[in-house]
Amino acid sequence: MEKTPFYQQVRDRLMRYAKVDTQSARVSDTVPTTKKQFDLAYMLRDELLTMGASDVWLDEDTCVLYASLPATAAAGRGMAFGLVTHMDTAPDAPGAGCKPWVLETYDGGDILLNEEKGIVMSPRDFPNLFHYVGQDLILTDGTTLLGGDDKAAIAAVMTMAEHLLKHSELPHGPIALAFTPDEEVGGLARDLDLDRFGAKVAYTLDGDYLGYYEDETFNASHATILFQGRSVHTGTAKGILLNAADMAAEFMGQLPPGEKPQFTEGREGFFHIVSVRADVEHAQVDLIVRDHDAELFAEREQLLRDVAAKLGEKYGEERVSLTIVPTYRNMKEIIDRYPFLIDNLTRAIRLAGLTPQSIAFRGGTDGSALSHRGLPCPNLSAGYENAHGRFEYVPIPSMEKNVEILLHLAGLFGEMGA
Ligand SMILES: [Zn+2]
Repeated sequence: MEKTPFYQQVRDRLMRYAKVDTQSARVSDTVPTTKKQFDLAYMLRDELLTMGASDVWLDEDTCVLYASLPATAAAGRGMAFGLVTHMDTAPDAPGAGCKPWVLETYDGGDILLNEEKGIVMSPRDFPNLFHYVGQDLILTDGTTLLGGDDKAAIAAVMTMAEHLLKHSELPHGPIALAFTPDEEVGGLARDLDLDRFGAKVAYTLDGDYLGYYEDETFNASHATILFQGRSVHTGTAKGILLNAADMAAEFMGQLPPGEKPQFTEGREGFFHIVSVRADVEHAQVDLIVRDHDAELFAEREQLLRDVAAKLGEKYGEERVSLTIVPTYRNMKEIIDRYPFLIDNLTRAIRLAGLTPQSIAFRGGTDGSALSHRGLPCPNLSAGYENAHGRFEYVPIPSMEKNVEILLHLAGLFGEMGA
């Protein structure tokens, strides 16, 4: 496969970044959730300073790293845009001690990841591998994740930045960069300071299939329902005992049985019980609610309120309490107000020789939250495969393509009015 001038840079970068353990934590009382995320932040900060980026600043309290590339377009031209990537890796598989390696010119067969432990990755289990025959792949040793999610995107963004800084003859507007912690644990880029960031529109780069983008995510909330029972001796319980565990079961029994993640796909929403803790005196059910459609989403939340109210009538209002906390909202209603965001993105993907494809993402991105905070922010794929697991890999040409897409994107925003 023909290598682009970016081959060596994206390869070296991902190899370097993958070795830094930046795993975030679901349970933590620090910001960010793990301090080791700073290790990559310092590394990126130094690289950005060395390549001559502007406004390089690491927020030492929150571990958000900022930088910008000054405009090169003629006065009055070049609209500003931003790129947001995340530095942490998922807590779902081991992250420490990552030993990335490169398999050159993949032949389409089984890949021996770890001779000593006999760990093999086969295209029979991971048929997407067939898409990458003839390409160079960055792989793990089968004992850790790679962290290509999202370091493959960071490698592409840094390579684009270096290229633009070296080639001031390429006209573009101001480009804002941010590297954030804790995406994998629902951080939602909370500490990204939009004033400091500067750009009014941005993209995250965080997804698998190359050339895919997302301008639609779920609406999401988390519901907790508490039941208070009344425990008495079971021998004399008739008419007196109230079993909180039974109330919890009754509640769950009133949710539509087919509307669960294991029975839904595409744009179908669901309820998902994430935990139940129950005894006679107390019960707590935690569940998440998801739907792309805002109206259907509101109906789902209303259903929870109705069921809770019904149980309250039956057992006493004071024995049932429901709280619903919003998690994130579908970005689409915001993104649709800025059609040039998707126009430029799909044009850039085409200019790089790919076919843009969008999916109604069955999840949320940092961009879902950022869009509703005032920074419309669709998501472009980073090109990693098998994220969050020990079989994660990144085809190097996918990162090269992403550099190309970003350079085209810079050019297209460069042609717009400032
Ligand atoms: Zn990610």
